[in-house]
Amino acid sequence: MSNQSSGQFRANKALGQHFLVSQKAIRTIAEAIPVGETAIEIGPGPGAITTSVLERVKHLTIIEKDDRFAEFWQEKTSEHLNLSIAHGDVMELLDDVVAQDNPQWIVGNLPYNISGPLTASLASFSLSGGMVLMYQREVGQRITAEPGSKVYGGLSVLVRHFYHPKKLITLPPGAFNPPPKVHSMVIQLMPHGKEPKCAYDDLQKTVRQGFAHRRKTIYNQFRGQLTQEDYLSIDIDPKKRPEQLAYDDWVQITLKLILNRGR
Ligand code: SAM
Repeated sequence: MSNQSSGQFRANKALGQHFLVSQKAIRTIAEAIPVGETAIEIGPGPGAITTSVLERVKHLTIIEKDDRFAEFWQEKTSEHLNLSIAHGDVMELLDDVVAQDNPQWIVGNLPYNISGPLTASLASFSLSGGMVLMYQREVGQRITAEPGSKVYGGLSVLVRHFYHPKKLITLPPGAFNPPPKVHSMVIQLMPHGKEPKCAYDDLQKTVRQGFAHRRKTIYNQFRGQLTQEDYLSIDIDPKKRPEQLAYDDWVQITLKLILNRGR
């Protein structure tokens, strides 16, 4: 389906609708998902990615908030027997759909207005395949950033709990209809296969507190909860700032906080 804002459908700005029209991007996203596997797509809209993914996968569940698109895809279930629809807000439905489907992959051109909190939720799932996700370029840069970078932050740490993030492509505004004001980036999250040493929820709490004030030292962020000796025992310089700590450092801090809380 293709048209100004996609055929009979007008883009709804409140739902972050910018429909992908770049065939190269559609191919890159779809081909990252191996044939015969299972997937969830977040925000199919009129189906730029959906149509290509449906041809490849054994089963696809789509999560869509917009009534028009949910209805459009509902009508297609008789011709696509490998398609299921979850109609509603992904922030409310995601946990249940993942628990029910146990998918190998999650894919989506994500609505920009919720991409931060949505990624923090997505990163909590350990999928055997991985994720292929489209972001506003700045968010993609934050996700793939390494320690020491100005844009390294909570999301950069959280996605590394189960995944290695990799940039696939950057896209100009013209790759979408209507074009957004910003560039976009497709990121692949590839499972690294290492067993995490702490629970995701605990890591998330630490990261949230640790990055609350980027200019404070780590010592001050966790003042009263971690001592100089604690930092010495985990080999972290307490004078460092949050953006200087690697994923493993955040795990060590999390484990120490849990230990101290239990005292
Ligand atoms: N996948 C289509 C494409 O690439 O052309 C559309 C992508 S558009 C950027 C984002 C999609 O997410 C829209 O279909 C929009 O209706 C849907 N969406 C926005 N907010 C949502 C939410 N909270 N829950 C589920 N879907 C949402």
